[in-house]
Amino acid sequence: MLKRDNAPLPPGATIGILGGGQLARMLAQAASRIGLNCHVYATEADSCALEVVKRATVAPYADQDALARFAKGCDVITYEFENVPSQTASFLSQRKLVLPDPRVLATTQDRLIEKEFVESLDIATAPYAPVIDASQLFEAVHRIGLPAILKTRRFGYDGKGQHRIDAGGDPATAWRALSGAPCILEGFVPFEREISVVVARGRDGSLQSFDVTENEHRDHILKVSRVPAAIPDPVAAEAVRIAESIATAFDYVGVLAVEMFVLRDGTAQRVLVNEIAPRVHNSGHWTIDGCTVSQFEQHIRAVAGWPLAVPVRLGRVEMVNLIGAEANDYTRWLAVPGAAIHLYGKGDPVPGRKMGHVTRVQAD
Ligand code: AMP
Repeated sequence: MLKRDNAPLPPGATIGILGGGQLARMLAQAASRIGLNCHVYATEADSCALEVVKRATVAPYADQDALARFAKGCDVITYEFENVPSQTASFLSQRKLVLPDPRVLATTQDRLIEKEFVESLDIATAPYAPVIDASQLFEAVHRIGLPAILKTRRFGYDGKGQHRIDAGGDPATAWRALSGAPCILEGFVPFEREISVVVARGRDGSLQSFDVTENEHRDHILKVSRVPAAIPDPVAAEAVRIAESIATAFDYVGVLAVEMFVLRDGTAQRVLVNEIAPRVHNSGHWTIDGCTVSQFEQHIRAVAGWPLAVPVRLGRVEMVNLIGAEANDYTRWLAVPGAAIHLYGKGDPVPGRKMGHVTRVQAD
Protein backbone atom coordinates (compact mmCIF):
# COMPACT_ATOMS: atom_id res chain seq x y z
CA MET A 1 0.00 0.00 0.00
CA LEU A 2 1.40 3.39 -0.95
CA LYS A 3 1.45 6.17 1.56
CA ARG A 4 -1.14 8.83 1.00
CA ASP A 5 0.00 12.41 0.88
CA ASN A 6 -2.27 15.40 0.72
CA ALA A 7 -0.50 17.32 -2.05
CA PRO A 8 -3.14 18.30 -4.61
CA LEU A 9 -2.69 17.07 -8.19
CA PRO A 10 -2.12 19.92 -10.65
CA PRO A 11 -4.46 20.56 -13.58
CA GLY A 12 -3.43 18.24 -16.41
CA ALA A 13 -2.87 15.29 -14.04
CA THR A 14 -4.51 11.96 -14.85
CA ILE A 15 -7.03 10.12 -12.73
CA GLY A 16 -7.49 6.43 -13.54
CA ILE A 17 -11.03 5.08 -13.29
CA LEU A 18 -11.75 1.37 -13.02
CA GLY A 19 -15.01 0.65 -14.82
CA GLY A 20 -16.42 2.14 -17.99
CA GLY A 21 -20.13 2.69 -17.37
CA GLN A 22 -22.17 5.87 -17.08
CA LEU A 23 -20.69 6.73 -13.66
CA ALA A 24 -17.18 6.73 -15.15
CA ARG A 25 -18.50 8.76 -18.08
CA MET A 26 -19.94 11.44 -15.78
CA LEU A 27 -16.80 11.40 -13.59
CA ALA A 28 -14.66 12.01 -16.67
CA GLN A 29 -16.93 14.82 -17.85
CA ALA A 30 -16.69 16.49 -14.42
CA ALA A 31 -12.90 16.05 -14.32
CA SER A 32 -12.53 17.59 -17.74
CA ARG A 33 -14.44 20.70 -16.63
CA ILE A 34 -11.80 21.38 -13.97
CA GLY A 35 -8.82 20.59 -16.18
CA LEU A 36 -8.06 17.05 -15.02
CA ASN A 37 -7.76 14.09 -17.38
CA CYS A 38 -9.14 10.60 -16.95
CA HIS A 39 -7.87 7.24 -18.14
CA VAL A 40 -10.69 4.67 -18.12
CA TYR A 41 -10.00 0.97 -17.59
CA ALA A 42 -12.95 -1.01 -18.96
CA THR A 43 -13.45 -4.67 -19.63
CA GLU A 44 -15.76 -4.16 -22.64
CA ALA A 45 -14.85 -2.26 -25.80
CA ASP A 46 -18.36 -0.78 -26.10
CA SER A 47 -18.31 0.79 -22.59
CA CYS A 48 -20.02 4.17 -22.72
CA ALA A 49 -17.29 6.03 -20.78
CA LEU A 50 -14.80 5.37 -23.58
CA GLU A 51 -16.62 7.91 -25.77
CA VAL A 52 -15.58 10.83 -23.57
CA VAL A 53 -11.93 10.11 -22.69
CA LYS A 54 -8.73 10.31 -24.70
CA ARG A 55 -6.97 7.54 -22.79
CA ALA A 56 -8.46 4.11 -22.24
CA THR A 57 -7.47 0.53 -21.58
CA VAL A 58 -9.80 -2.30 -22.59
CA ALA A 59 -8.69 -5.51 -20.87
CA PRO A 60 -9.89 -8.03 -18.28
CA TYR A 61 -9.43 -7.15 -14.60
CA ALA A 62 -7.02 -10.08 -14.25
CA ASP A 63 -4.62 -8.81 -16.96
CA GLN A 64 -1.62 -7.77 -14.88
CA ASP A 65 0.37 -6.35 -17.81
CA ALA A 66 -2.52 -4.09 -18.75
CA LEU A 67 -3.07 -3.11 -15.11
CA ALA A 68 0.63 -2.27 -14.64
CA ARG A 69 0.66 -0.08 -17.78
CA PHE A 70 -2.56 1.60 -16.66
CA ALA A 71 -1.11 2.33 -13.20
CA LYS A 72 2.00 3.85 -14.79
CA GLY A 73 -0.07 6.31 -16.81
CA CYS A 74 -2.16 7.56 -13.87
CA ASP A 75 -1.44 9.89 -10.96
CA VAL A 76 -4.14 8.39 -8.77
CA ILE A 77 -6.68 5.60 -9.34
CA THR A 78 -10.33 5.39 -8.34
CA TYR A 79 -13.31 3.25 -9.33
CA GLU A 80 -16.87 3.70 -10.46
CA PHE A 81 -18.28 0.47 -9.06
CA GLU A 82 -17.87 -1.66 -5.98
CA ASN A 83 -17.32 -5.07 -7.52
CA VAL A 84 -13.78 -4.44 -8.70
CA PRO A 85 -12.05 -7.76 -7.86
CA SER A 86 -10.03 -7.39 -4.65
CA GLN A 87 -6.89 -8.81 -6.38
CA THR A 88 -7.14 -6.08 -9.04
CA ALA A 89 -7.42 -3.35 -6.42
CA SER A 90 -4.54 -4.69 -4.34
CA PHE A 91 -2.30 -5.20 -7.42
CA LEU A 92 -2.88 -1.57 -8.39
CA SER A 93 -2.49 -0.21 -4.88
CA GLN A 94 1.06 -1.60 -4.73
CA ARG A 95 1.89 0.60 -7.72
CA LYS A 96 -0.22 3.73 -7.36
CA LEU A 97 -2.40 5.43 -4.82
CA VAL A 98 -5.92 3.97 -5.05
CA LEU A 99 -8.74 6.02 -3.49
CA PRO A 100 -10.98 5.23 -1.74
CA ASP A 101 -8.76 2.66 -0.02
CA PRO A 102 -9.52 -0.80 -1.49
CA ARG A 103 -10.03 -2.16 2.04
CA VAL A 104 -13.43 -0.44 1.90
CA LEU A 105 -14.38 -2.82 -0.93
CA ALA A 106 -13.80 -5.87 1.25
CA THR A 107 -16.51 -4.55 3.59
CA THR A 108 -19.04 -3.30 1.06
CA GLN A 109 -18.75 -6.26 -1.33
CA ASP A 110 -20.24 -8.55 1.29
CA ARG A 111 -23.63 -7.74 2.80
CA LEU A 112 -22.87 -9.64 6.01
CA ILE A 113 -19.55 -7.88 6.66
CA GLU A 114 -21.16 -4.55 5.73
CA LYS A 115 -24.03 -5.07 8.19
CA GLU A 116 -21.61 -6.05 10.98
CA PHE A 117 -19.52 -2.95 10.24
CA VAL A 118 -22.57 -0.66 10.40
CA GLU A 119 -23.72 -2.26 13.66
CA SER A 120 -20.22 -1.83 15.12
CA LEU A 121 -20.77 1.93 14.72
CA ASP A 122 -24.01 1.69 16.72
CA ILE A 123 -26.05 2.44 13.62
CA ALA A 124 -29.29 0.51 13.10
CA THR A 125 -29.92 -1.83 10.15
CA ALA A 126 -32.80 -4.15 9.25
CA PRO A 127 -32.73 -7.29 11.42
CA TYR A 128 -30.59 -9.92 9.68
CA ALA A 129 -29.08 -13.36 10.05
CA PRO A 130 -26.37 -15.16 8.05
CA VAL A 131 -27.46 -18.15 5.95
CA ILE A 132 -25.05 -20.70 4.51
CA ASP A 133 -27.34 -23.67 4.07
CA ALA A 134 -31.02 -24.59 3.98
CA SER A 135 -31.18 -25.59 7.65
CA GLN A 136 -29.65 -22.26 8.73
CA LEU A 137 -32.27 -20.54 6.57
CA PHE A 138 -35.06 -22.22 8.55
CA GLU A 139 -33.42 -21.13 11.82
CA ALA A 140 -33.07 -17.59 10.45
CA VAL A 141 -36.75 -17.50 9.42
CA HIS A 142 -37.66 -18.65 12.91
CA ARG A 143 -35.56 -15.88 14.46
CA ILE A 144 -36.30 -12.98 12.06
CA GLY A 145 -39.89 -13.87 11.12
CA LEU A 146 -41.70 -13.35 7.80
CA PRO A 147 -42.02 -11.51 5.51
CA ALA A 148 -38.28 -11.36 4.92
CA ILE A 149 -35.87 -11.00 2.04
CA LEU A 150 -33.15 -13.51 1.27
CA LYS A 151 -30.18 -11.69 -0.31
CA THR A 152 -26.94 -13.09 -1.68
CA ARG A 153 -23.99 -11.75 0.31
CA ARG A 154 -22.14 -10.75 -2.87
CA PHE A 155 -22.83 -9.33 -6.34
CA GLY A 156 -26.41 -8.16 -5.79
CA TYR A 157 -27.63 -4.94 -7.44
CA ASP A 158 -30.94 -3.44 -8.60
CA GLY A 159 -32.84 -6.23 -6.78
CA LYS A 160 -30.79 -9.00 -8.42
CA GLY A 161 -29.72 -11.72 -6.01
CA GLN A 162 -32.78 -11.16 -3.82
CA HIS A 163 -35.84 -13.26 -3.11
CA ARG A 164 -38.74 -12.20 -0.91
CA ILE A 165 -40.31 -14.80 1.37
CA ASP A 166 -43.88 -13.83 2.27
CA ALA A 167 -45.69 -14.83 5.43
CA GLY A 168 -46.64 -18.48 4.91
CA GLY A 169 -44.18 -18.72 1.98
CA ASP A 170 -41.70 -21.53 1.44
CA PRO A 171 -38.11 -20.60 2.38
CA ALA A 172 -36.78 -23.57 0.36
CA THR A 173 -38.07 -21.94 -2.87
CA ALA A 174 -36.07 -18.78 -2.10
CA TRP A 175 -32.98 -20.84 -1.27
CA ARG A 176 -33.22 -22.68 -4.60
CA ALA A 177 -33.88 -19.43 -6.50
CA LEU A 178 -30.54 -18.06 -5.26
CA SER A 179 -28.77 -21.34 -6.10
CA GLY A 180 -27.54 -21.94 -2.58
CA ALA A 181 -25.12 -18.95 -2.60
CA PRO A 182 -24.07 -17.62 0.85
CA CYS A 183 -26.82 -15.22 1.89
CA ILE A 184 -28.27 -13.10 4.62
CA LEU A 185 -31.92 -13.16 5.57
CA GLU A 186 -33.19 -9.64 6.19
CA GLY A 187 -36.42 -8.82 7.98
CA PHE A 188 -38.80 -6.92 5.70
CA VAL A 189 -38.82 -3.25 6.76
CA PRO A 190 -42.27 -1.63 6.42
CA PHE A 191 -40.60 1.65 5.52
CA GLU A 192 -42.41 4.93 4.99
CA ARG A 193 -39.76 6.25 2.62
CA GLU A 194 -36.40 5.40 1.14
CA ILE A 195 -33.73 8.07 1.35
CA SER A 196 -30.03 8.35 0.64
CA VAL A 197 -27.20 10.59 1.65
CA VAL A 198 -24.34 11.24 -0.75
CA VAL A 199 -21.33 12.44 1.21
CA ALA A 200 -17.87 13.51 0.06
CA ARG A 201 -14.80 13.18 2.27
CA GLY A 202 -11.55 14.89 1.32
CA ARG A 203 -8.01 13.64 1.78
CA ASP A 204 -7.78 15.97 4.80
CA GLY A 205 -10.84 14.35 6.42
CA SER A 206 -13.20 17.24 5.64
CA LEU A 207 -16.83 16.27 4.97
CA GLN A 208 -19.51 17.74 2.70
CA SER A 209 -22.91 16.06 2.40
CA PHE A 210 -25.48 16.82 -0.25
CA ASP A 211 -29.06 17.36 0.91
CA VAL A 212 -30.93 14.16 1.75
CA THR A 213 -32.57 12.62 -1.30
CA GLU A 214 -35.83 10.70 -1.34
CA ASN A 215 -35.88 7.73 -3.70
CA GLU A 216 -38.66 5.82 -5.39
CA HIS A 217 -37.91 2.43 -6.95
CA ARG A 218 -39.76 0.58 -9.67
CA ASP A 219 -39.06 -3.12 -10.21
CA HIS A 220 -36.17 -2.73 -7.71
CA ILE A 221 -34.50 -0.08 -9.92
CA LEU A 222 -34.26 3.57 -8.89
CA LYS A 223 -36.88 5.50 -10.86
CA VAL A 224 -37.24 8.93 -9.24
CA SER A 225 -35.13 10.94 -6.80
CA ARG A 226 -36.53 14.07 -5.15
CA VAL A 227 -34.71 16.67 -3.12
CA PRO A 228 -35.30 17.75 -0.45
CA ALA A 229 -36.71 14.55 1.05
CA ALA A 230 -40.09 15.03 2.74
CA ILE A 231 -38.76 14.33 6.23
CA PRO A 232 -38.46 16.52 9.34
CA ASP A 233 -35.14 18.33 9.79
CA PRO A 234 -34.00 16.22 12.78
CA VAL A 235 -34.49 13.02 10.73
CA ALA A 236 -32.50 14.53 7.84
CA ALA A 237 -29.78 15.59 10.28
CA GLU A 238 -29.64 12.06 11.69
CA ALA A 239 -29.33 10.59 8.16
CA VAL A 240 -26.42 12.95 7.40
CA ARG A 241 -24.78 12.13 10.73
CA ILE A 242 -24.98 8.41 9.91
CA ALA A 243 -23.46 8.81 6.44
CA GLU A 244 -20.68 11.06 7.71
CA SER A 245 -19.81 8.71 10.55
CA ILE A 246 -19.58 5.80 8.09
CA ALA A 247 -17.29 7.81 5.79
CA THR A 248 -15.10 8.81 8.73
CA ALA A 249 -14.94 5.27 10.14
CA PHE A 250 -13.65 4.05 6.75
CA ASP A 251 -11.13 6.95 6.59
CA TYR A 252 -12.81 7.32 3.22
CA VAL A 253 -11.62 9.58 0.40
CA GLY A 254 -14.14 10.36 -2.33
CA VAL A 255 -17.91 10.17 -2.62
CA LEU A 256 -19.89 7.55 -0.75
CA ALA A 257 -23.66 6.96 -0.76
CA VAL A 258 -25.68 5.45 2.06
CA GLU A 259 -29.16 4.15 1.26
CA MET A 260 -31.54 4.19 4.20
CA PHE A 261 -35.10 3.35 5.18
CA VAL A 262 -37.24 5.79 7.17
CA LEU A 263 -39.51 3.86 9.48
CA ARG A 264 -42.41 5.15 11.55
CA ASP A 265 -42.07 4.26 15.21
CA GLY A 266 -45.23 5.51 16.93
CA THR A 267 -45.15 9.25 16.39
CA ALA A 268 -41.39 9.34 15.73
CA GLN A 269 -39.41 8.32 12.66
CA ARG A 270 -36.32 6.16 12.72
CA VAL A 271 -33.58 5.72 10.15
CA LEU A 272 -32.11 2.30 9.29
CA VAL A 273 -29.16 1.76 6.96
CA ASN A 274 -29.94 -0.48 4.00
CA GLU A 275 -26.79 -0.37 1.94
CA ILE A 276 -23.49 1.48 1.43
CA ALA A 277 -22.22 2.28 -2.07
CA PRO A 278 -18.49 3.20 -2.03
CA ARG A 279 -18.81 5.37 -5.14
CA VAL A 280 -20.84 8.06 -6.83
CA HIS A 281 -24.48 6.98 -6.89
CA ASN A 282 -27.56 7.20 -9.08
CA SER A 283 -29.45 9.03 -6.33
CA GLY A 284 -26.84 11.81 -6.61
CA HIS A 285 -27.29 12.47 -10.33
CA TRP A 286 -29.55 15.43 -9.51
CA THR A 287 -26.48 17.31 -8.30
CA ILE A 288 -25.23 17.85 -11.88
CA ASP A 289 -28.03 20.29 -12.71
CA GLY A 290 -29.52 20.95 -9.27
CA CYS A 291 -26.50 22.00 -7.26
CA THR A 292 -23.50 24.32 -7.49
CA VAL A 293 -21.20 21.28 -7.48
CA SER A 294 -21.96 17.76 -8.65
CA GLN A 295 -21.21 14.53 -6.82
CA PHE A 296 -18.86 13.71 -9.71
CA GLU A 297 -16.79 16.87 -9.29
CA GLN A 298 -16.71 16.35 -5.50
CA HIS A 299 -15.34 12.83 -6.03
CA ILE A 300 -12.71 14.04 -8.47
CA ARG A 301 -11.74 16.90 -6.13
CA ALA A 302 -11.41 14.47 -3.21
CA VAL A 303 -9.23 11.90 -4.97
CA ALA A 304 -7.13 14.67 -6.55
CA GLY A 305 -6.50 16.13 -3.10
CA TRP A 306 -8.36 19.34 -3.90
CA PRO A 307 -10.53 21.11 -1.34
CA LEU A 308 -14.17 20.01 -1.44
CA ALA A 309 -16.75 22.52 -2.61
CA VAL A 310 -19.57 23.58 -0.31
CA PRO A 311 -22.66 22.36 -2.21
CA VAL A 312 -25.56 24.77 -2.54
CA ARG A 313 -28.79 23.31 -3.92
CA LEU A 314 -30.43 25.44 -6.61
CA GLY A 315 -34.07 24.62 -5.80
CA ARG A 316 -36.44 21.66 -5.50
CA VAL A 317 -35.05 18.98 -7.75
CA GLU A 318 -36.54 15.88 -9.35
CA MET A 319 -34.44 13.34 -11.27
CA VAL A 320 -36.13 10.65 -13.34
CA ASN A 321 -34.21 7.69 -14.72
CA LEU A 322 -34.80 6.70 -18.34
CA ILE A 323 -34.84 2.92 -18.18
CA GLY A 324 -34.80 0.69 -21.26
CA ALA A 325 -37.12 1.90 -24.04
CA GLU A 326 -38.06 5.03 -22.06
CA ALA A 327 -34.93 6.57 -23.56
CA ASN A 328 -36.63 6.46 -26.96
CA ASP A 329 -38.81 9.27 -25.61
CA TYR A 330 -35.89 11.66 -25.46
CA THR A 331 -37.38 14.03 -28.01
CA ARG A 332 -40.39 14.59 -25.73
CA TRP A 333 -38.02 15.59 -22.92
CA LEU A 334 -36.12 17.93 -25.23
CA ALA A 335 -39.33 19.96 -25.51
CA VAL A 336 -40.03 20.20 -21.75
CA PRO A 337 -39.07 23.66 -20.46
CA GLY A 338 -36.37 23.42 -17.78
CA ALA A 339 -35.69 19.72 -18.29
CA ALA A 340 -31.99 18.79 -18.46
CA ILE A 341 -31.60 15.55 -20.36
CA HIS A 342 -28.65 13.17 -20.07
CA LEU A 343 -28.23 10.22 -22.42
CA TYR A 344 -25.42 7.80 -21.69
CA GLY A 345 -24.61 6.74 -25.25
CA LYS A 346 -25.27 3.07 -24.58
CA GLY A 347 -26.74 2.27 -27.99
CA ASP A 348 -30.03 0.41 -28.37
CA PRO A 349 -32.17 0.37 -25.23
CA VAL A 350 -32.09 -2.87 -23.26
CA PRO A 351 -35.00 -3.59 -20.86
CA GLY A 352 -34.07 -2.77 -17.26
CA ARG A 353 -30.89 -0.91 -18.30
CA LYS A 354 -30.30 2.68 -17.22
CA MET A 355 -30.00 4.61 -20.49
CA GLY A 356 -30.16 8.20 -19.27
CA HIS A 357 -31.89 10.56 -16.86
CA VAL A 358 -33.75 13.85 -16.80
CA THR A 359 -33.47 16.49 -14.10
CA ARG A 360 -35.86 19.33 -13.39
CA VAL A 361 -35.16 22.15 -10.96
CA GLN A 362 -37.87 24.44 -9.57
CA ALA A 363 -37.54 27.45 -7.33
CA ASP A 364 -37.65 26.30 -3.67
P1 AMP B 1 -30.95 -3.44 -2.09
O1 AMP B 1 -30.35 -4.10 -3.29
O2 AMP B 1 -30.65 -4.13 -0.80
O3 AMP B 1 -30.69 -1.97 -2.05
O4 AMP B 1 -32.54 -3.55 -2.30
C1 AMP B 1 -33.22 -2.97 -3.40
C2 AMP B 1 -34.58 -2.45 -2.95
O5 AMP B 1 -35.37 -3.53 -2.41
C3 AMP B 1 -34.50 -1.43 -1.84
O6 AMP B 1 -34.24 -0.15 -2.34
C4 AMP B 1 -35.90 -1.57 -1.23
O7 AMP B 1 -36.86 -0.92 -2.03
C5 AMP B 1 -36.14 -3.06 -1.29
N1 AMP B 1 -35.65 -3.71 -0.05
C6 AMP B 1 -34.42 -4.20 0.15
N2 AMP B 1 -34.28 -4.69 1.40
C7 AMP B 1 -35.45 -4.51 2.02
C8 AMP B 1 -35.94 -4.79 3.34
N3 AMP B 1 -35.20 -5.41 4.27
N4 AMP B 1 -37.22 -4.43 3.61
C9 AMP B 1 -38.01 -3.81 2.69
N5 AMP B 1 -37.60 -3.54 1.42
C10 AMP B 1 -36.35 -3.87 1.09
